Amino acid sequence: MVQPMSKIINQFIDWIFFNLLKQLLPILSSRSLNSLQKDTQNAVQVQQQVLKRILKLQKNTEYGKSYNFAMIQSADDFRNKHPLTTYEHYRSIIDEIANSRDYTKLVAEPIILFQETAGTTGQTKLIPRTKRLFSTNQKAFQAISALTESYPWQQKPPQTESIGLPFANAQPLKQTPSGIPKGTGTSGGIKQSKFTRNVIRLKFSSPTALFLISDYTAAYYCHLLFGLLEPNLTYISANFASNVLQGLQILEQSWQQLVNDIELGQIDPDLDLDPSIREELQQLLEPNPERAKTLYLEFVKGFEGILPRIWPQLRYLQCITTGTMQLYQERLKGYTGNLPIYSHGYGASEAWIGVNLDPERDPPAYVITPHAAFFEFIPVSEIDSDSPTTLELSSLSIGESYEIVVTNVAGLYRYRLGDVIKCVGYYNQCPMIEFLYRQGSLLNFEYEKVSEKTIFLALTDGINMLGQPGKLIDYTTTMDFSYRPWRYIIYAEISQIQEDVINLNACQNQIDQSISNANETYRKLREANAIGIPEIKLLKTGSFEQLKQRILQNQSSEAQFKMPRLLKDSNLVAFLENQVIAS
Ligand code: AMP
Repeated sequence: MVQPMSKIINQFIDWIFFNLLKQLLPILSSRSLNSLQKDTQNAVQVQQQVLKRILKLQKNTEYGKSYNFAMIQSADDFRNKHPLTTYEHYRSIIDEIANSRDYTKLVAEPIILFQETAGTTGQTKLIPRTKRLFSTNQKAFQAISALTESYPWQQKPPQTESIGLPFANAQPLKQTPSGIPKGTGTSGGIKQSKFTRNVIRLKFSSPTALFLISDYTAAYYCHLLFGLLEPNLTYISANFASNVLQGLQILEQSWQQLVNDIELGQIDPDLDLDPSIREELQQLLEPNPERAKTLYLEFVKGFEGILPRIWPQLRYLQCITTGTMQLYQERLKGYTGNLPIYSHGYGASEAWIGVNLDPERDPPAYVITPHAAFFEFIPVSEIDSDSPTTLELSSLSIGESYEIVVTNVAGLYRYRLGDVIKCVGYYNQCPMIEFLYRQGSLLNFEYEKVSEKTIFLALTDGINMLGQPGKLIDYTTTMDFSYRPWRYIIYAEISQIQEDVINLNACQNQIDQSISNANETYRKLREANAIGIPEIKLLKTGSFEQLKQRILQNQSSEAQFKMPRLLKDSNLVAFLENQVIAS
């Protein structure tokens, strides 16, 4: 059949666009990386410019007028005239904008998305995103992309082009009463514009239609299907280590169906897929019995170190492995063999914070991105003070910890992020930081402030005392005020555990000991019997998956989800209590 002329012309334009982008994208990415590196050399100056630009941009908004931004001359002046803030400072203004659409109350340009933050430590927040805020994130992403082109450095970059398997799903958008889109940070990110479609085509094995699937199991299954069809895959990427782990678990559970689909050139007929997406994807598939056989022969050998066996060109995985994600990284190692995992960046809905410029460093550290916001830092000793001092980015001391404060381009000023980091060095004028914990997830009866990291390491030590081979699937904690003396409860799900022969006393004692070693205030409180020995409770298999689904009913999305390490919601605690199999 002869194609109409207009279709041929459109295909030709698409072809030109695609090939232009292919040449342009690496240039844009390496420009962003160079620009970011330059920023780090002039970080002090860049920070002053960023603040100046923000104040100039917002000076005529209702908020800017009320703080007289037009008259602020310097960072010191700004600090004197504007208080430190938390979300509560903005809640009523943001609610008004959500209802009225009148963004000029707070910002000079339209709000393109209200990012609903995970809210795992409290009420859901709506963080305004503007075009300018989004483009600061883009610069960080492009720099990361340039960096990974030749990663890992010790290997000669292969002749083949990089092609990645993404674990991502569409985040359906809701709307505020006045019609402003509302959703998680990633929801606005994957728009089906011509530019994005072509970027996806260039970078990933997945067709663009896959990024429209919102059900994460269906989306991940299809990403796997198209990824498995690509024998020369060079990387796997996702926001978080938990996303990659979920993807690989789907691979382990569904490999037979995937192999069958590849052999027949189909998508599992039982997979719950929108018919139009199924049809679009189906047109791209054809039977590939040869690839199916190669894969089958590897899968039947088991899943230990499976990734380099099915994708011999695979060079690395890219996902965040720090903070809450540390636990999942351990579990990923079973699948990855010796492949490196690059924990690429550190960002929040409020602002991009850092990029990992030294992927080989263990533990990962992030260089603060000075273009992304105006940053201040509260020394950890002053976090609870009524009027804490703040330091600028070039004044951090190596080895010291701080809470991050951001002034962003989208209406947040001197905003306490609640994240506590440690300065571990400098990259030019910019601090390199390790993520320590979120303020809201500290266990704290009497100023002992036991962090998530301390609990995770103590729990790992405790599990070693069980004398069983089981692996930690997930965990959370709560503070038990009903017991005398007060105590922490640690809920843990452990694989392949024989609960009837388990002795939890040794485990509990070890946890107690490990926390005491890491935290002096805790040790003293324990010696004085002001708090009791932490109680460990083992949960049924699948409890944390169910907990996640319960949390996701009210807030957040699969892609952004971070398991809360401190549960405050009594209904969720009651749910876990019903799942206990040993305590
Ligand atoms: P959200 O605004 O919902 O995207 O969540 C942002 C929060 O995720 C940050 O404030 C951190 O607490 C956490 N986070 C983001 N990136 C990292 C990272 N690289 N390491 C540890 N925690 C991170």
